[in-house]
Amino acid sequence: MATSNSSKQEFLAVLESVLGKASGSPIALHEPNIGALENEKVADCLNSGWVSSVGEYITQFETDLAKFTNAKHVVAVVNGTAALHLALHAVGVKPGDEVIVPTLSFVATANSVSHCGAIPHFVDSDSQTLGLDPDALRNHLSRNTSIRDGQLINSKTGRRISAVVPMHTFGHPMQIEKLLEVAAEFNLTVVEDAAESIGSFVGKVHTGTFGKVGILSFNGNKTITTGGGGAILTNDSMLAERVRHLATTAKLAHDYQYLHDAVAFNYRMPNINAALGCAQMQRLDQFLKAKRSLAEKYAQACKISQTLSFVDEPSGTTSNYWLNTVRLNSPDLKTRDALLGASRADGYLCRPAWNLLHTLPMYQQAPRSELKVAEELVNSLINVPSSARHFLGNI
Ligand SMILES: *Cc1c(COP(=O)(O)O)cnc(C)c1O
Repeated sequence: MATSNSSKQEFLAVLESVLGKASGSPIALHEPNIGALENEKVADCLNSGWVSSVGEYITQFETDLAKFTNAKHVVAVVNGTAALHLALHAVGVKPGDEVIVPTLSFVATANSVSHCGAIPHFVDSDSQTLGLDPDALRNHLSRNTSIRDGQLINSKTGRRISAVVPMHTFGHPMQIEKLLEVAAEFNLTVVEDAAESIGSFVGKVHTGTFGKVGILSFNGNKTITTGGGGAILTNDSMLAERVRHLATTAKLAHDYQYLHDAVAFNYRMPNINAALGCAQMQRLDQFLKAKRSLAEKYAQACKISQTLSFVDEPSGTTSNYWLNTVRLNSPDLKTRDALLGASRADGYLCRPAWNLLHTLPMYQQAPRSELKVAEELVNSLINVPSSARHFLGNI
């Protein structure tokens, strides 16, 4: 297979020119960057005794996030999946509803829908942004739904479709403004999965603040980490209050009694994690600069390749370049796997995009549109090592 061989050579050359030789320990896809500041703040938190879900670091972390994203309200929670579950629940997604999600996403996007007792309804992606395709969604909904009593009904299943969850893939902003228009046409609530896109903007507006509500993740592999953690962003004051209440077991304020007024969640972020987050927020701009420099180097290195292209931020947007991505100019699963095998054998821990969600056993029966673009994308995308540390020394 000549093409497979030449793309393999080209891919290894790109990796080596950007990252150097992976001698000694393998180069991770994305690793956390923990330094003196993180140690200092976590130690201070431990010494304060305020280690659980009340404390000054939580308030500080939420304030820092609100300032950075320009969201009116931020509620820090235990992880991104919990954030998405609670966000969907709080906007009124009910058991038996369907919720539109891209099939090209991390499994949490669909699982959080299932946790509400609802059913993910998979739609196709846009080949440039890698996010949900608003035009394809409009087409699909026009053909397969009707509006009854103000509610969008799937004509095939008879179920209500209540929300849509756009996701900003690998940090690249999807066409969120166009998606908002389609959502308005079809009475869908927009819950933005911005788990991967802290530091990504459309124009000057931060991802996760376009929809009714949005979420971030601070898992260990994300751009900044709190160990595990997530946040809910919203500009709706009533919704913010409700989310905060539901995340805290719906407990009513009282000196000593256990009064709760709803079946709710224990999802608040502990102060220890928030202490780590406060340190990471102070370094976020540096991380973003380093990641952008790394992305520029990958983009440059890919220019001479005949078989590979670098996935650039969509025009009009700023990506955080969370996971840098190359794509095969001719999508082919065998070639993709050959490249993954060769790079991993040489110590570069590259990964494919996620297996499409509608192919996973628990979602094979779920409703869907045509998914041709996503199927091509998964056969062509490869994530390459993207840790900030590769450029942090130069900033
Ligand atoms: C990481 C991620 C999540 C979930 O975040 P966790 O903090 O790991 O629970 C949700 N959606 C997407 C697209 C993600 O990448």
